[in-house]
Amino acid sequence: MPSEIPSICALDALRTHRRGAATAEPPDAAALHEVFQNSTINALLEGLYDGSMTFGELRRHGDFGLGTFNALDGEMIALDGEFYQIKADGVVYPVTDHQRTPFATVVFFRPSLGRALDERLSYDELQSRMEGLMEGPNLFYAVRVDGRFAAVTTRSVPRQEKPYPPLAEVAATQAVFELENVDGTLAGFRFPDFARGLNVPGFHLHFLTADRRAGGHVLDLKLERGALAIDATAQFHLELPTDPAFLHADLGHDQSEALDRAERAR
Ligand SMILES: [Zn+2]
Repeated sequence: MPSEIPSICALDALRTHRRGAATAEPPDAAALHEVFQNSTINALLEGLYDGSMTFGELRRHGDFGLGTFNALDGEMIALDGEFYQIKADGVVYPVTDHQRTPFATVVFFRPSLGRALDERLSYDELQSRMEGLMEGPNLFYAVRVDGRFAAVTTRSVPRQEKPYPPLAEVAATQAVFELENVDGTLAGFRFPDFARGLNVPGFHLHFLTADRRAGGHVLDLKLERGALAIDATAQFHLELPTDPAFLHADLGHDQSEALDRAERAR
């Protein structure tokens, strides 16, 4: 079918371009100051867990952020250029450049606003406090809180085998960790509601203890005190996978309910 030839050629060109880009001089992604993401949250919800990008490539686009790993093998958090993998066994592992991610969001974190948080805050109260400091709900915000936490409830997800189940099903088997009286760092993003389908609308935070021994995807927390930093940006760079599973997946329908079960259920 001749009508398919142009699209296949275009895809080949795209893949060739990417291979070329990996060996070329890195672009000055830090100067662009854009939130960078590979794949979409709806693709992850559908069970597209094959890593489409190496961490060697990802770290060229940011030094701060969150995501997951090939085959959904745990939770990723990046702080100050260091990438960490919190597996379902609760152990924190360093991430190598050769590992791959099916979904990650990163930025070169350059906060424009900082605040001391001197009072105890629930997760809801912390989110309200952060929103009150933002210039409206329609930009991309990276947020970081370094502090003392009375409690942080985190989770991690176990590595999956093919055929991959949807994320909401995996979340039902997640490992939950109750961390108490810990120093550590929250890192994540607030995305606008209109980004639904691409990323998690509202806040999505991961946590890492100061001793780098525990953490995960945040389900709940009680902050004792801390320091908040917010980095607002109007630029968003989305890079889509080009493997057949992504190209032919049905990604258009509303996944809000599955997203709640996958990202917020305990
Ligand atoms: Zn997460």
